[in-house]
Amino acid sequence: ATQKPRPAEPFPRRSSVAVQIGKVKVGGGAPIVVQSMTNTDTEDPASTAKQIAELARAGSELVRITVNTPAAAAAVPRIAERLAMMGVDVPIIGDFHYNGHQLLEAEPACAEALAKYRINPGNVGFGKKKDSQFGAIIEMALRYDKPVRIGANWGSLDQSMVTLLMDQNHTRAEPWDASHVAREALIRSALDSAAKAEEIGLPRDRIILSCKVSGVQELIAVYRDLAARCDYALHLGLTEAGMGSKGITASAAALAVLLQEGIGDTIRISLTPEPGGARTGEVIVAQELLQTMGLRSFTPLVTACPGCGRTTSEFFQELAQTVQAHVREQMPLWRIKYDGVENLTLAVMGCIVNGPGESKHANIGISLPGNGEAPAAPVFIDGVKAMTLRGDNIANEFVGILDDYVSR
Ligand code: SF4
Repeated sequence: ATQKPRPAEPFPRRSSVAVQIGKVKVGGGAPIVVQSMTNTDTEDPASTAKQIAELARAGSELVRITVNTPAAAAAVPRIAERLAMMGVDVPIIGDFHYNGHQLLEAEPACAEALAKYRINPGNVGFGKKKDSQFGAIIEMALRYDKPVRIGANWGSLDQSMVTLLMDQNHTRAEPWDASHVAREALIRSALDSAAKAEEIGLPRDRIILSCKVSGVQELIAVYRDLAARCDYALHLGLTEAGMGSKGITASAAALAVLLQEGIGDTIRISLTPEPGGARTGEVIVAQELLQTMGLRSFTPLVTACPGCGRTTSEFFQELAQTVQAHVREQMPLWRIKYDGVENLTLAVMGCIVNGPGESKHANIGISLPGNGEAPAAPVFIDGVKAMTLRGDNIANEFVGILDDYVSR
């Protein structure tokens, strides 16, 4: 029998409980949410508010900040005030480790200003103190009506859970290796903590889970397992992904597999920025990952060929770059003014081999002349050849055509 071809689309999304974080809904079928994290000193409200604004304007729908000291906790409401004055309305998440219970108790204005608390079950407290400190943070979430992300991390595993699972190896017919133990410890730590939070009274629709690791295959294995064992909304991210192309490739490889399987309600791409480099790069990568997979639309997509020996100059790469930069720059305004603009596709191609064909698939495409071709650049609008550009002003004219198309 002939096999039915699979549709060219991701599997259906995993069903999860929706969680409201300020104005943003995560899970329950809501669009997959992009989030990021600041790297400023939270004790400095001016620079932290500035970076939150940059991340939000780049498209980060949630922004996490570290809250690690009493001064940082005291700065949180001042950061919120600054953002309000700047007209930036993005939910802020507080990232707590070790002392979250004390900071939230000591700074009610911080507890109130944050839209969600992130706690790490591996370092919320140790020994006898663990339950009471975890409980205290959940009580604060209940008091201030906030959701919580229980975020376990490979780098800060709950050691008591690891010891317990290692001990159980004696009773297993086939003992688990260290990697299996670590994966199970992460998942069990998140699930057990979520169960405890529910026992204390936090409803399921205020709990998000994450189990981050830094290896691609481990992350995929952990999340497949976690997703099958609960219906909590899941935050996805490859932790400590690294710098530049390595970080982007590793994150995209891991997250794409999971997203394709319908797993993940919110994502962060954890990139180490170049010294002095913009933090917003991770937001753009997250958006592009979701958009290239057909899961969301944020901005017109520019298709460009890689170029080859058929191109005589770098002009077409420069044109592709000009078009991409123009789109990114204009997008905040376009998003407000024009419906559906984020779904546009643009093509900038280097010669006649694939140029006209690819241009016809795009809303607007240009095919520049390759080596030995007549010096003319046909422009296609909605699949039809609309005009031919010539001369030294092709870049400006093409951008003008794009602006006209968007505004019509
Ligand atoms: Fe080379 Fe032309 Fe293909 Fe671009 S479209 S990669 S210039 S053959």
